[in-house]
Amino acid sequence: MDKYLKAIKQNVCSICVDSSERGVCTLTNKETCAVEFYLPSVVEIVHSFYSEDFSEYHKIVKEKICAYCKAEIDGHCYLHEDANCSLDRYFPVIVETIQKVDRGLLN
Ligand code: SF4
Ligand code: SF4
Repeated sequence: MDKYLKAIKQNVCSICVDSSERGVCTLTNKETCAVEFYLPSVVEIVHSFYSEDFSEYHKIVKEKICAYCKAEIDGHCYLHEDANCSLDRYFPVIVETIQKVDRGLLN
C-alpha cells in the first residue's frame, strides 16, 4: 500500500485545497482524509476490473464505501454536497494514479 500512498501524496496532495503550497497536508489530528482512510478499499475496487470510464469505479465506491461512511445519512453526504470530501473531489486523479502505479509509470 505504501507505493500507492506515496504516489497519492505526490499527485493528489500536491493539488489538494487542504495542502500547503508545498503539498503538505494541513488537516489537524482531529480530521480524517477520506483518500488516506479509504485508500486500501479504493485500490481493491480499481483492481477488481478495468475501465477507462472512471464513473464506473465511482459507482462502486458509492455502494461499497459511501454507503457505510459515517458522513452519509439517508443517502446524503454533507461533505459531498459541500465538495468537501477529498476522495470525491479528486476521484479521477486518484484512479489514474493507482492505474499508473500498477503500470509502473510512477514509483
Ligand atoms: S486532505 Fe488528503 S488529499 Fe488533501 S492534502 Fe491532506 S492527505 Fe492529501
Ligand atoms: S463522499 Fe461522503 S460518504 Fe463518500 S467517502 Fe466521502 S465523506 Fe464518505
